Amino acid sequence: MPTVYNWQLGRKMHYPYEERHPRWQFAAVFNTNRCIGCQTCTMACKSTWTFSKGQEYMWWNNVESKPYGGYPQFWDMKLLHLLDEAHQREGTEAAWDPSQKDGAQRPYGVFEGMTIFEAALKRYGPEGHTRALGYIPSDEEWRAPNIFEDTSPPYEGGPLGLSKEGVSLPEHKTWFFHLQRICNHCTYPGCLAACPRKAIYKRPEDGIVLIDQERCRGYKKCVEGCPYKKAMYRGTTRVSEKCVACYPRIEGKDPHITPDGVPIEARCMAACVGKIRLQGLVKIEEKTGDWTEDRRNPLYFLVKVEKVALPLYPQFGTEPNIYYMPPRWVPRAYLRQMFGPGADDAVNKYMAPSRELLAVLQLFRSTQKIIFRYEIVEGKKVFETEINGKPWSMYNDTVIGFDKNGTEVARLTVEEPVYTRPAKHLNSI
Ligand code: SF4
Ligand code: SF4
Repeated sequence: MPTVYNWQLGRKMHYPYEERHPRWQFAAVFNTNRCIGCQTCTMACKSTWTFSKGQEYMWWNNVESKPYGGYPQFWDMKLLHLLDEAHQREGTEAAWDPSQKDGAQRPYGVFEGMTIFEAALKRYGPEGHTRALGYIPSDEEWRAPNIFEDTSPPYEGGPLGLSKEGVSLPEHKTWFFHLQRICNHCTYPGCLAACPRKAIYKRPEDGIVLIDQERCRGYKKCVEGCPYKKAMYRGTTRVSEKCVACYPRIEGKDPHITPDGVPIEARCMAACVGKIRLQGLVKIEEKTGDWTEDRRNPLYFLVKVEKVALPLYPQFGTEPNIYYMPPRWVPRAYLRQMFGPGADDAVNKYMAPSRELLAVLQLFRSTQKIIFRYEIVEGKKVFETEINGKPWSMYNDTVIGFDKNGTEVARLTVEEPVYTRPAKHLNSI
C-alpha cells in the first residue's frame, strides 16, 4: 500500500492510492459559536439537489445538536468505537504528540494512532474486503436527521437541574452546540478508497469529490468507508450520491448568477442566516499537497496562521477540508476528541481575538462571491477591556474582500453601523 503525507496528522500514512493533489481545493470554515440551528442551509441544499423520489432521507447538508444528535444517528460514536476496538486489538492508543508541533506544516503535532485506512489494513490486509474501517448505518439510523435537537446533558446543579453555575464560562455544565455537516471533499477520501469500481474521483481543478453515476453499481462501499457518512445510497436508482459542492457555482459558469464568471459559494454557504460560513478555494502545491502560502486568503489565515479553525475528527485520516471554529462553552475534553489537540488554543484565540482576526471574522457571509484575498485599513480604537486578566482593545478597522478577478466584493467595518430612523408616527419602527 502506498504512503501519503497527511499534514493534519503531521506524518505519512497508508492510503490505497498514490499521493496526488489538485491545483485548488474547495474548503470552508464554519464558526460553530454563531450557528442558530435554523436549518436554512439544510433546506437550501435539499431544494437544490435532493428533492426527488428516493431522496427523501437524503440530507447532503445537515445540522445536528451535539453531543447526542447525529445524522445518521450516532455516526461518530460508532466509528470512534470501531477505532477504539482496533487500537485495543493492537495494544496501541489513538494518541497525539503535540510536542512535535511545527508551524503551518504540522500545526497539531503528530497523531500516533491508527487512521481508518491503517486500521483496515491491519485487520483485513491489503487484499481485504475493505480499505477503510467503517460500517453501513441501518435504515432506522437515517430516519431522524435532527433527533435530540437542542438536548443538553443533564446537570444536577439546583432545583430541576437548573443552576447559574451550569451555564458559566469557561465551560458550561449543561451544554449543547450545533454541528454543521457537509461532505468534507477530503484530500484522501474514505469513500474513494473504498469503492471497488473506481467510480469516485477527485477533480484536479478544485479538489471536489464526485461519484460517477455511470460507473457506480450501488455496492455501498462508499457508504461504509466514508467516516462522516456523507456518501448516501438511493434505492430508486440503485446508485450512491453525495454532495457535489454546487460545482456549477464554483466553476462560475452560470451566466445568470455569475455574469463575470467568478466562482461563487455553494448554496448552503450562501444561504446561511447566522453568517457562520466562509467558503473558499485554497491553492495547493501539487507536488507536496501543502497549502501554498497565501497570507491574505481568509481561509489560509484562519486555518494556517491563526489556527482558530480545525478539522473535524482529523484522527480518521481523510484530511477533511471543512474547518470548524470550536464552540467556546463546551468541555475541552469533548472538543479535543472532536477537533484534535488544537482545540484549546483555537478557543482561547476566539475568546480574545487578535486585531486581524476580528476584522477577518466580518467577512463571513458578506457576499456570495468567493473571496480570494482581503486587505485591512486600520481604524481608531473604540473599546478597551480585560480578557482573562489581560488588556484587550477593539479597533474599528475596515476589511475589504476581493474576488478571483481582484474586484472588490465586500467592505465591512468591525463596528456595525447603526442608523436610528426618526419616529414620524406612533407606530414608526
Ligand atoms: S466526507 Fe465522506 S463522502 Fe465526502 S469526500 Fe470525505 S470520505 Fe468522501
Ligand atoms: S443556515 Fe447557518 S445558522 Fe442556520 S443552521 Fe445552517 S449553518 Fe447554522
